[in-house]
Amino acid sequence: MKVVTTCQEMRSLISRAKAQKKQIGFAPTMGCLHEGHLSLISKSIQDNDITIVSIFVNPTQFGKNEDFDRYPRQLQNDIKLLEKLPGVTVVFAPSYSDIYGNAPNTQTIVHVPHLSKLYCGKTRTNFFDGVCSIVTRLFNLILPNRAYFGEKDFQQFVIIKMMTADLLLNINIIGLPIIREINGLAMSSRNQYLSKIERDEASLIYTMLSNACKLFSEGERDADVIQKKIRGIISHNSLLKIEYIAFVHSDTLKVMSQCTEQTRILIAGCINQTRLIDNCNISDKTHLI
Ligand code: AMP
Repeated sequence: MKVVTTCQEMRSLISRAKAQKKQIGFAPTMGCLHEGHLSLISKSIQDNDITIVSIFVNPTQFGKNEDFDRYPRQLQNDIKLLEKLPGVTVVFAPSYSDIYGNAPNTQTIVHVPHLSKLYCGKTRTNFFDGVCSIVTRLFNLILPNRAYFGEKDFQQFVIIKMMTADLLLNINIIGLPIIREINGLAMSSRNQYLSKIERDEASLIYTMLSNACKLFSEGERDADVIQKKIRGIISHNSLLKIEYIAFVHSDTLKVMSQCTEQTRILIAGCINQTRLIDNCNISDKTHLI
């Protein structure tokens, strides 16, 4: 496995791979790798000749009062984990200045209108601009045939698909299922912030999603009715505070008042300072308890 830290070195590696007609798979991450990330990387290894994993805590997607400074960084540990995976893997861990130069505030921003302002974009106003700006830069450098994203960040996945299509990028965007802890909590690097009690409370989000799936399987289609019932799972003194629950179409993210097989439920909340997101397809029977 090779660790690359500069754009220049990455560019020459990519030119050699392209000259040899190698298929390139790419999984962008912010590191502190867990099984959710590893599922994307393993799929890329299966599908491609070369897999590139970027590890870069992207400053432009964090708001002023968010956790950029304390976001967990453990590059050496991540490298050890990746070395255990069979297959050709390149880790790309660039410096901030290599990606954004020395004037990060005046650089080009990639903005997907409308979708970036909804749901998570309402409170994290520059978040999707930051994500699209880093992903575009990495796509242009790495020129992957396929790029792998987790459905854990479902709005991000839909926005990246739209951006890739709009910018005529010849990259196949592949979404993969959410990997969960035993208690149902979606794996996330931010789960490290949670105490044992907070982790138990955090799993209530999955309980809400499972209950919505159950109501749908029993024939309920009214999104408001389902929403009211699942909100009832959270007591007033719970540590978990819900930011939003949205019933949306999986392809367009448009709100749906009547649920169908295409409905995705998106939930965001927080426990103390830790923000949590999760989602599932309402007709997914694997979530029925
Ligand atoms: P992050 O390092 O949090 O920016 O995530 C990098 C990629 O891993 C994104 O495409 C995420 O959606 C994906 N990912 C994060 N957590 C999970 C999970 N629990 N299951 C599947 N994919 C995930």
